[in-house]
Amino acid sequence: MIEPALRRIAWARATLVEREASSRLTTSYGDAPARRPHVIVEIGTAAGAVGLGEASPLPEFTGETAAAVHHALTETYFPALPGHEATAPAAVAAEMERLLPGNPSARAAIDMAVHDLAGRLLGVPVAALLGGVRRPSVALARALGIGTVAATVAAAERYAADGFRTLKLKVGQNPRADVERVRAVRRAVGDDVRIRIDANQGYDAATAVGVLRALEDCRLEYVEQPVPRWDHAGMAHVRRAAGTPVLADEAVHTPQDALALIRAGAADLFALKFVKTGGLVRAAQIAAIGEAAGIDCVVISPFETQIGAAAGLHMALALPLGRHAHELTVFATQPAMARTGIHLRGDALHPAETPGLGVESIVELAGSRA
Ligand SMILES: [Mg+2]
Repeated sequence: MIEPALRRIAWARATLVEREASSRLTTSYGDAPARRPHVIVEIGTAAGAVGLGEASPLPEFTGETAAAVHHALTETYFPALPGHEATAPAAVAAEMERLLPGNPSARAAIDMAVHDLAGRLLGVPVAALLGGVRRPSVALARALGIGTVAATVAAAERYAADGFRTLKLKVGQNPRADVERVRAVRRAVGDDVRIRIDANQGYDAATAVGVLRALEDCRLEYVEQPVPRWDHAGMAHVRRAAGTPVLADEAVHTPQDALALIRAGAADLFALKFVKTGGLVRAAQIAAIGEAAGIDCVVISPFETQIGAAAGLHMALALPLGRHAHELTVFATQPAMARTGIHLRGDALHPAETPGLGVESIVELAGSRA
């Protein structure tokens, strides 16, 4: 048993770094930037234990920029952290949310770091703090941006040859071209590879139903966010009219969103991204609400380094249902931001055997400390 004084948070600091993007996907939002900002968060005890977290903001999802994240962390959240017990991540998360609502990406970075610190102090993987490891590894999917048929087919064949059994195709700019591209990929990879598509809110309900009916014989795993996030009735209509499962992504940020989607009959699956949920605590609540309604979750780490993606891996290892492949892309592309024992074999991602998230930063961290 570690005495309470040694479990208390003593300090926190944030370092803003910019790196070449680990992946670039053209989506219905447009072309992806070549470089991405990451706010790396360290939270420590007086005795020298340190936890790592990160915010890699998605402004098109949450309205937060890296500068806004850094400001919220250093001006508001960090000064309130000292004295809190790191082994009480849900209490810390609730206090941060009370102090300054919104800012989910900034709160996610703190929540990851507190979980990492708690895991290190207790000598357990972060998945143990989320109810425990339910599977020894998780399957990864690979995502393909909007592009030419030839380029998309070539990438799909390469991923299938590398052992990936699930592909996600971005759609939502041009329905006719979307249908042609998805059909070409299905022909190229055969029936053993699952295909999911993501419109990023790019269709209206009638267009989505038309696209899904034209793709009926492609046996899609699901369609992700076919219509705008506020259009629960449209999502419900797409589910019923097209018969393809619908995954809510942009539509589900909070546990309250999950409840509203279930009441509207608007989703078969939820996408968990910590930048939306404000971290692991609320993501686990969304997964529990989903479980009660028979709704599974897919964990997505959008453009994060290995720190955020490791948190995603622990969430995926502990998910109540966990029947689908997750999108933790950085472990398939491996830019050097962190050292980790997490490893990919075929499409199966295995956790590290070290406590916490199992990640050590190899980036020089010397940000502003509060
Ligand atoms: Mg999506």
